[in-house]
Amino acid sequence: MIDVSFQQDHFEVVPTLVQPTMVEAIKSQARAQMGAKTQLLPEVYALPVSQILQDRLASFDPESEDFEAENAFYVADLGEVFRQHKRWKALLPRIEPFFAMKCNPDPMVMRLLASLGAGFDCASKNEIQAVLDLGVDPSRIIYANPCKQNAFVKYAHANKVRLITFDNAEELHKIKRFHPDAQCVLRILTDDSKSLCKLGLKFGAPLNTTGSLLATAQALGLDVIGVSFHVGSGCFDAHAFGEAVIRARRVFDQAKDYGFDFKFLDVGGGFPSAHVTEGITFEKVAGILGSTVDALFGPEVRVIAEPGRYYVGSAFTLATQVIARRTVTSDGDEAGCSDVAAAQEAQEAPEQGPSHMYYINDGMYGSFNCIMFDHQICEPKVLYRDGIFSYQASPASPDELLGLASVWGPTCDSIDCITARARLPLLETGHWLYFENMGAYTITAASQFNGFRKSEVLYTTTEAEVSFRV
Ligand SMILES: *Cc1c(COP(=O)(O)O)cnc(C)c1O
Repeated sequence: MIDVSFQQDHFEVVPTLVQPTMVEAIKSQARAQMGAKTQLLPEVYALPVSQILQDRLASFDPESEDFEAENAFYVADLGEVFRQHKRWKALLPRIEPFFAMKCNPDPMVMRLLASLGAGFDCASKNEIQAVLDLGVDPSRIIYANPCKQNAFVKYAHANKVRLITFDNAEELHKIKRFHPDAQCVLRILTDDSKSLCKLGLKFGAPLNTTGSLLATAQALGLDVIGVSFHVGSGCFDAHAFGEAVIRARRVFDQAKDYGFDFKFLDVGGGFPSAHVTEGITFEKVAGILGSTVDALFGPEVRVIAEPGRYYVGSAFTLATQVIARRTVTSDGDEAGCSDVAAAQEAQEAPEQGPSHMYYINDGMYGSFNCIMFDHQICEPKVLYRDGIFSYQASPASPDELLGLASVWGPTCDSIDCITARARLPLLETGHWLYFENMGAYTITAASQFNGFRKSEVLYTTTEAEVSFRV
């Protein structure tokens, strides 16, 4: 049993989905009992994701005066995060996961991972503070941003966060000045050409600079304890991990010349999410990474990783309502998201363009910023249509019912397009679409542009082992 209660925070398993008004009543009562200072956590249901979706949709009252009632919403399955953690422990038992919280700093995910004993990869003062506020020991935090604001380095120092990365000489002088007892980790550049998000453009010391960096650190009397790297987020070549570990080994050997005895290796992030079941799977990465690490590093070396996407990618499902529809006339040219996408797709499918444009209540400026920033492809599926709930129905709709449509977010900007071409049955305002695997790099970077709110999260756990108790 994993008890996810933390300090004075309390969880409660609510067996069935209660009406939102009742939730409010329960919350205010609890607030009164526990004192105003206590942060009240949201309910965590113990129901299948489909049940939460269905109950939520069923709870809408079209006559209600609640102007937020039909907003898009997420269902987060904390059980899925727990399964990913177990899988990690089984396949990479030697490597300690430090969750890269920028990927999704959801407070419940954070609490669950904290109670499971995971560490955290933080990049700013606020991220560090959020983890410390959970009661996590500072030794379980790595400040893994190689280029830091002075004040944040001071903050790390004041709060005893000692693990800290660097990749340039200026940063070493900064660390010397504001955090002289830091345990410094040298982030090296690796080949990220096989990744969607190439972090090497911004960070990582090329191997021809590591010697002079180590010399500088030695002259400053700083403690450099090891090496980190990041193969790039959305990595699609498992061998990138093995090659990066070989590079790290070279820097371990080089460090001896400068009087350092490295005992710390951080293999970064880039691990695929659970919904990736072909090509680069976690099993493949773990096989290559685990064996390379064991072959090159003795048991005296502590090894950590910074998985982000891996933990949360598959744990969040987003439900959105169709708020408007436009029927495209045959001579109109208003169907494509962008000229490029339209031109590309016209080559692939020379038939006619989309016949309908659907507008939904979350978009590119909200959860779907992942399309722009994280190169994700988001596939709409029908959740609710004509009184029928069709979550994970197969086939979703008979082929003859499907037409070509484009799907757009709610803002007034034309960049706010989710997909230029989707095969969907005819939908109407009030129908719902859902998107799976929306946990990574979505809500975390959502804005409130044009006055649209971030989609709220409902929580459930599909693992009985994870208990949320009062
Ligand atoms: C973003 C980031 C991660 C997480 O990357 P994923 O691809 O989500 O696993 C890990 N470490 C650092 C330093 C990062 O910037």
